[in-house]
Amino acid sequence: MTTIEVLGTCHHDCPDSCGWIASSTDGVLTSIKGNPAHPYSTGELCPKINKFVGRVNHEDRLLTPLIRTGPKGSGEYREASWHEALTRVVDEFTRVRDTFGGQAIMPWWSAGTQGLIQNAGTSNALFALLGACRQDGNVCGMASGFGMASVYGNRLGTDPLQAAHSDQIILWGTNTRLTNRHLWPTIEAAHRRGAKIVVVDPIRTITADKADQHIQPLPGTDVAMLLAMINVLITEDRIDHDYVAEHSTGFDELAAYVGEKSPEWAAPLCGVDATVIRDLARSLSATPATMLRALIGAEHHYSGPTIYRLLSMIPVLTGSHKVLGGGFARSVGSWAEVADVDSNAVSGLADVVAPGVERRVMYQPRLGDALTKLAEPVHALFIWNGNPLLTMPNSGAIRRGLERDDLFTVVSEQFMTDTARYGDVIFPAAMETEQLDVMPSWGHLWLGWNEPATEPLGQAVSNTELFRRLATAFGFDQPELHLSDTEQIERGVSDDVDLEELRSHGFVRVSSFPIDHLPYAHGGYRTASGKAEFVAESFGAAGMSRLPEWVPLEEGPGSPAVESTPLFLQTPKRATRFLNTSYSDLSAHADRESVPHIELDPVDAAERDLAPGDRARIFNARGSLTLPVALSDRLRPGVVSVPWGFVDSAYGDDVGSINDLTNAADTEFGHGSSYGDTLVQVEKLI
Ligand code: SF4
Repeated sequence: MTTIEVLGTCHHDCPDSCGWIASSTDGVLTSIKGNPAHPYSTGELCPKINKFVGRVNHEDRLLTPLIRTGPKGSGEYREASWHEALTRVVDEFTRVRDTFGGQAIMPWWSAGTQGLIQNAGTSNALFALLGACRQDGNVCGMASGFGMASVYGNRLGTDPLQAAHSDQIILWGTNTRLTNRHLWPTIEAAHRRGAKIVVVDPIRTITADKADQHIQPLPGTDVAMLLAMINVLITEDRIDHDYVAEHSTGFDELAAYVGEKSPEWAAPLCGVDATVIRDLARSLSATPATMLRALIGAEHHYSGPTIYRLLSMIPVLTGSHKVLGGGFARSVGSWAEVADVDSNAVSGLADVVAPGVERRVMYQPRLGDALTKLAEPVHALFIWNGNPLLTMPNSGAIRRGLERDDLFTVVSEQFMTDTARYGDVIFPAAMETEQLDVMPSWGHLWLGWNEPATEPLGQAVSNTELFRRLATAFGFDQPELHLSDTEQIERGVSDDVDLEELRSHGFVRVSSFPIDHLPYAHGGYRTASGKAEFVAESFGAAGMSRLPEWVPLEEGPGSPAVESTPLFLQTPKRATRFLNTSYSDLSAHADRESVPHIELDPVDAAERDLAPGDRARIFNARGSLTLPVALSDRLRPGVVSVPWGFVDSAYGDDVGSINDLTNAADTEFGHGSSYGDTLVQVEKLI
């Protein structure tokens, strides 16, 4: 009997990127536990990964290639050899390319594993050689990063662990206790020391339960509230004049723009009392060690990038970048890209193998439109690292697209997900304990190593191996498409990182974060001017707003849709045992969570004569579901919540999920998604 123990890092689309120790005996994964030496996760995993052994060894795992035998969506398949499945894909993709051109082939992926090489491997080079579409944008991160970069010149912010030094921590639209659990002990310790915790969130989350103050704006109206806060800082002369003069540009124009944006102007727009807005703004200047902390969520609105633009401006105005515990902390993954990793090193090989190839750009959040609205349709779709039929907005359009007879769909998956059911060919995908990777984190400043504890079960393969096999099947013999995993890591990780140290310790600290923990204490912004820019001159030339302007919601108060659909829909993460839709298909996780339901404020419920347990229809022009009703004191009148992450079958007889109702419209810039700008109506079923 041979037992081994290896160091790994959680691969999930989660900021914590926890370090783990995985054990296997005779090639079978037997245990996974937190690595106590990991500086951030300190030995604790979470209810998802604590049961990861059961997921890896689950009897429902897909372990062979499959070819569809029943109708699309039926889940009826037969097993196939890799050779047969690859041949089928090559034949169909070649037919599509020869008939419609390469742009009729579309790759789509998300962050099922967010590892440096396993997220996308050499896929970009492969699809470039096919002349296929190129994916851009994403539902999280890109839009907010774009907003931040418009002010700082890049996406680099404060290390959230510096909250240890904060006297006030403002958690803006982030449910830290649930979705960033390993940061919470730092915040709790600051709180015990006397720091004030403020949560700004349309829902009273479990994080808000622990806060000293919870401010509850209407969804998507943060820009109005933030402009009013800046109005107070400027009109009451609460800014750091020296810092602003030395390290920023565009102040006078910003001041003129916000001059009319008083708290009284903002209050009816955002639903927050003017006094509350004014007091919060005043607290920013009175408490220099104020950390603004946002993560994923607030950018899920048309105005999402502008929210992050404004949040980035506040520490410049108050000078809190000079103070330990001050500043703006968002995703810190970008620090790894300064000197330690180059996440484009492998994807950029597309320019080597297929220089000058023009490719149609497709935006990840708008898969439904891509499959149903294009004058020159997509006829071949390749999906990996994601379950878009449940996770992407306006998912009803995605389903209609996947049902098309003239669409050939390939899916690489670990389980028969709702998306996989529409695959014409399914490839079996490896689990993280079965593949090599390096894991940059977006929540902390350590790079993680992931050593496989076993070979992949059955005939499953890693994404890197999948794309090598596809390249061979297509007859692409360019060496760039056949790099080993180690060669891909060596390309993506800087020579300055000691790979042997990374492998043997399981983690290394990102080298570029300043030793004094104050990235902007002395300016040093990466803009063209070298200063923080309140006015984005380049935006004007691109047809975007030079200033962070308030734009009324397309789907919100005042819009035509409000007549028939007067309630804001929120679809928060709620289940501690789900990671997006991963794990919600496993009874060990799903059976311990609630079922999909509609949460209403008692005022809205009374208007509709709804009581707990009633069944109601929630609907808008995009979709409709029938679900049980629950009353909640965590919302405010006018806001309804349907927690998400559930598989289609959990919704009962209805086909679809709550994302059938959500809004896939582009964000103001940055190519994100406006999930949260969704209006619905709820009516009682008689
Ligand atoms: S899902 Fe997040 S919290 Fe859970 S183990 Fe992975 S990184 Fe850690």
